Amino acid sequence: MFNKNNTVEILCVGTEILLGNIVNTNAAFLAEEIAKMGLSSYYQTVVGDNAQRLEDTLKLALSRSDIVILCGGLGPTEDDLTKEIASKVAKKELFMHEESRKRLEEFFEKRGHKPTENNFKQALIPKDSIVLTNNNGTAPGVIIPYEDKYMILLPGPPVELKAMFNESVVPFLRKISPVIFVSRTVKLVSVGESRAETMIKDLIDAQTNPTIATYAKTGEVHIRVTASGKNEKECDSLIKPVIRELQKRFGNNIYTTHDEVSLEKSIVDLLLSGGLKVTAVESCTAGMVASRLVNVPGASEVFKYSFVTYCDEAKRKLAGVRKSTLDKHTAVSRETAEEMVKNLDAPLKSDVCVGVTGYADGEDAGHVFIACNVRGNIEVREFNFFGSRLNVRESATTQALVLMRDCVLKYLSNLALS
Ligand code: ATP
Repeated sequence: MFNKNNTVEILCVGTEILLGNIVNTNAAFLAEEIAKMGLSSYYQTVVGDNAQRLEDTLKLALSRSDIVILCGGLGPTEDDLTKEIASKVAKKELFMHEESRKRLEEFFEKRGHKPTENNFKQALIPKDSIVLTNNNGTAPGVIIPYEDKYMILLPGPPVELKAMFNESVVPFLRKISPVIFVSRTVKLVSVGESRAETMIKDLIDAQTNPTIATYAKTGEVHIRVTASGKNEKECDSLIKPVIRELQKRFGNNIYTTHDEVSLEKSIVDLLLSGGLKVTAVESCTAGMVASRLVNVPGASEVFKYSFVTYCDEAKRKLAGVRKSTLDKHTAVSRETAEEMVKNLDAPLKSDVCVGVTGYADGEDAGHVFIACNVRGNIEVREFNFFGSRLNVRESATTQALVLMRDCVLKYLSNLALS
């Protein structure tokens, strides 16, 4: 059973993380999942493949947190020390776990390889612990009880860690927790994080259960509402009134109240509901708008084609921008953006066209015009984004999707009124 505090600490093991050779994506994944479950996490540590430092760090983590999740260092080689150190700290001997040994043999047999002796080191398990099956690799995970706490050891490769976390660790944490946690995410566009937070400051200040937290993503703000209760029904009944209040305050700026729905998915659904087909004409984003849309299963129902019109000649020949417009206003201008989306009939007929033109670097880096045409109603927006070339292109992509959403929503609501 959890202590009263429900605290989980993440401890990643590997010299290559310390040296910056790999990015610690496991910590980011685990931290996000832990927060989603409503559990608290106050510390994250990275330690190299060094026995003494790992032991000291693990003891420190156990002195201040209820659960310590360790990742990495479960491999077969000499420098993979995590299990050995964790079992030493827990004072549990390692023994050969027959089932894991058999799985290892089968794993190698299936691939036509012979395991070496050190491979079987992975099947050594500390006494009294729970073995977590690895369906994507060789190293089993382990949950080791320690006083009234637990150490949870997971393999380093992200595909193995993620699957094991979802399949085995989440159910375990749910089982030992006296309450369950349910969270829902409300996703917003066209409102900055500080404005969003100001608009719900009273709710945040008064929060106890459910808790409310805002997160900024590129061009989006997510508000996570997490409730704890005896069961799902109780959590839902605590969450629903907060979601309704957020809907009242943010209205159309909310594109979804479901965790699994992305901005592009909400747009594809919107286009589907209106029977609208979309095309894209992209300069500085060079296909990124099209790519985001095509990420959504079923996009072929609404997405027709895209042009990457990077040079002026392409803007003229493919998108029909007039030479005089380019000469007079340049390629990065309101007028050019508008002409990029003007012709909904060529080369194929569509209902919606979105266009992006801007500077991703140089003196005017971040200056971008985005246009959207929905059956003849054109809107153009001007932006000044900050950051690297990639940041500018990603921000422009998100804002192109946001403009498209706004224009389609406006069109559909006018249609309903007429
Ligand atoms: P294996 O059984 O494959 O040896 P392991 O549990 O010993 O796994 P490590 O040897 O520590 O894990 O790491 C294996 C690989 O997993 C690393 O080379 C790296 O690519 C990836 N990895 C490890 N830790 C992390 C991390 N914290 N974030 C992202 N990737 C990681």
